Amino acid sequence: MAKEHILVVEDEEDILELVRYNLAKEGYRVGGAISGEEALAKVKAEPPDLVVLDLMLPGVDGLEVCRRLKADAALSQVPVIMLTAKGEEADIVTGLELGADDYITKPFSPRVLIARIRAVLRRKAEGGGEQDAPIHAGNLHIHPGRHEVLVGGEPVDLTATEFRVLHYLVRNPGWVFTRYQIVDAVHGEDYPVTDRSVDVQIFGLRKKLGPAGKQIETVRGVGYRFKE
Ligand code: CA
Repeated sequence: MAKEHILVVEDEEDILELVRYNLAKEGYRVGGAISGEEALAKVKAEPPDLVVLDLMLPGVDGLEVCRRLKADAALSQVPVIMLTAKGEEADIVTGLELGADDYITKPFSPRVLIARIRAVLRRKAEGGGEQDAPIHAGNLHIHPGRHEVLVGGEPVDLTATEFRVLHYLVRNPGWVFTRYQIVDAVHGEDYPVTDRSVDVQIFGLRKKLGPAGKQIETVRGVGYRFKE
């Protein structure tokens, strides 16, 4: 199987080498960059299949690299996983809203990073389709075609907006979405959803779903995710 090309951007050379070593061991073709400028030059010279991007870089920082990648039509589809430090929640939110696919907080284990890389590459390969396929997660069953949610076989009465929020989270299990991303994904039909009202929707969902509602996790300072 042809292995993907991954560019790792990190100015701390110990971390860069650790990540490079572990990804190479998995069979990935790995490139490295120690600054935002070098990263942008390398991505343009040879677009990788995925970028692992530290946010704290001297000069052009990680968020700016992400912004420039996502603004470039030829590169905007390259997935980005951000490496972040504790306390950078605001930057994580900005990065996700700029189009980064995921993030990992330091310190992290190489095994977790590899799992995230696989998940992002898989999601990209699948193209995010199959929006109407039924989803089963534990005792939660969602039938998008019928707009129906069952918990342990019992139907749950959700509003149209609650349904869309739940469906969006569940069909991207493990992914953290900011309130703005959730608003963007479900906005529209019945009434304008604001970021605060996302909290209200989540509150309603958790209550109606009972124990299954615990799978909707709050990620402090960032947003929400559905636990796999
Ligand atoms: Ca750094």
